[in-house]
Amino acid sequence: MFPIHGQGLVPESLGTTPRITSLLIKPASAVCNLDCAYCFYLDRDADPYKALPARRMTEEVLERLVDNFLFYSYPNSVFAFQGGEPTLSGLPFFRKLVELQKQLGRDGQNVSNALQTNGMLIDDDWCRLFKEYNWLIGLSMDGPAEIHDVYRFNKAGHPTWNRVMQSLETMRKHKVDFNILCVLSQANVDKPKELYRFFTGLGVDNIQYIPLSEFDGQGNPLPFTITAEQYGRFLCETFDLWWPDRRKIRIRYFDNIAEALAGQKPGSCTMHETCDSYVVVEYNGDVYPCDFFVESSWRLGNIMADSWPEIARKQRRYHFARNKTVAHPVCQVCEYQAICHGGCPKSRHAPYRKFEDLDYFCPAYKMIFAKSVGPLKKEVEKILGRSVEGPQFCSISPY
Ligand code: SF4
Ligand code: SF4
Repeated sequence: MFPIHGQGLVPESLGTTPRITSLLIKPASAVCNLDCAYCFYLDRDADPYKALPARRMTEEVLERLVDNFLFYSYPNSVFAFQGGEPTLSGLPFFRKLVELQKQLGRDGQNVSNALQTNGMLIDDDWCRLFKEYNWLIGLSMDGPAEIHDVYRFNKAGHPTWNRVMQSLETMRKHKVDFNILCVLSQANVDKPKELYRFFTGLGVDNIQYIPLSEFDGQGNPLPFTITAEQYGRFLCETFDLWWPDRRKIRIRYFDNIAEALAGQKPGSCTMHETCDSYVVVEYNGDVYPCDFFVESSWRLGNIMADSWPEIARKQRRYHFARNKTVAHPVCQVCEYQAICHGGCPKSRHAPYRKFEDLDYFCPAYKMIFAKSVGPLKKEVEKILGRSVEGPQFCSISPY
């Protein structure tokens, strides 16, 4: 047996590891211009760059990134920018990115860009770039002002809702394609109707809800962490509200279930069989297998020194990807295993950070699957014009 957790490459005799299909790039690392009370990313002890406050991707790293990834990923190249707050890298950085993509892309190459932002810096100039090159923007907003401002403050401790609304209006004015990322915390998880009416009332037709689960060192939930029961109730009530609007409003979680039922790979990695659909690229070119595991022990390499095929074949990537396939005994007999695949190891190992734990939100998943799988399956069949079997239970993983 080769040393699976080492820094070498997976031997070819074991077959090929999956290609890297998309990048999550952190041009300003975990640095942010907000100080949200529930943020897991700032001041993490495991952050390998914690002692480096001014982290920005240089033009040299950007050029290497664009050049090598366009070559590796041809013909479909996906660049997604996240943080911290990626707009802290400045508009000239992103203009340079687009210039490089145009200069280095080959005929017939499809390049797509996406960016997730807290909305603090978005103005007309940013929106012109987003619109001109069809970027997809994720805007973080937790609901109306009295909910959003419970946890989302700037560095001076001031509320931020008004500035986010200004960004939303500017994006609408420029017809930028955007969706809302709404963190579910104790401030809003019991208010599904209020959230749904608020976002759809603003004309938003694409919403992603992100459940919050953070714990202290003893494994106790932090005050803003929601319970699985609360999350399950939220999803079920939101499903009822959304059902009459299902052909015009997208709720990412319900889309993912429908995709799985249609036999496709769901958009969200939490419903994938293994953790290998994307990698994170840090500001200095370091690469990690997942945004929740930017830790020295999971570093896969650096784009200034390693080629993409080498990074894809790193033993650590293989090891990380297969961690998810170790099904908990409860998952092994679960009727929804073929859709859920045990959830996300980030919440699977909470609160004690053990990959083999049951996902903290398992009861929520069971509640929403029990409610939604039947109607969604019929809907998928109506759209496809044929019956679907749905995903089959499969215990054989590519690892
Ligand atoms: S750990 Fe969770 S977020 Fe990370 S790749 Fe796996 S499923 Fe996705
Ligand atoms: S619903 Fe729960 S038991 Fe079933 S596969 Fe998902 S995490 Fe496992």
